[in-house]
Amino acid sequence: MSTDCVPCGMESAEDAAVVFRDDLWACEVIPGFDVPGWYVLRVRRHALRLGGLSEQELATYGRRARDVVDAVSEVTGAPATYLLTFGEANPHFHTLIAARGDDVPPERRLGAIMQQRTDRLDRTAALALVPAVAQAYTRLAARPAAPVGA
Ligand SMILES: [Zn+2]
Repeated sequence: MSTDCVPCGMESAEDAAVVFRDDLWACEVIPGFDVPGWYVLRVRRHALRLGGLSEQELATYGRRARDVVDAVSEVTGAPATYLLTFGEANPHFHTLIAARGDDVPPERRLGAIMQQRTDRLDRTAALALVPAVAQAYTRLAARPAAPVGA
């Protein structure tokens, strides 16, 4: 835990912002990124960048990311859900999972999605989606692992 680290600071986030937390990973709505349909999946210890993850964290990251993406896609109905990891401003490993709805114009899609931080922040609306996403995540995360190649 680093006191000036934003992802570490999310350990004390309000319950209303939490999609899930387990031993290794957490997913929350983060201030400054609280666009409705945006969530941050973060490793719970202060591990720097992808290369700083343990074998167990690496092995579980894909499953957690998939389950959050599926839950967000299901609840928002978004035709695309992005995963973005920069590892620069806040190198504590985390991934922004961002629903891209039909209402997002073409010039705001793909890499330009981050521009929504300037005019789409709405913490109340973002938090209002959390219970449904959390419920969907819990159900989807309980799916049995698919056999290889299925
Ligand atoms: Zn940290």
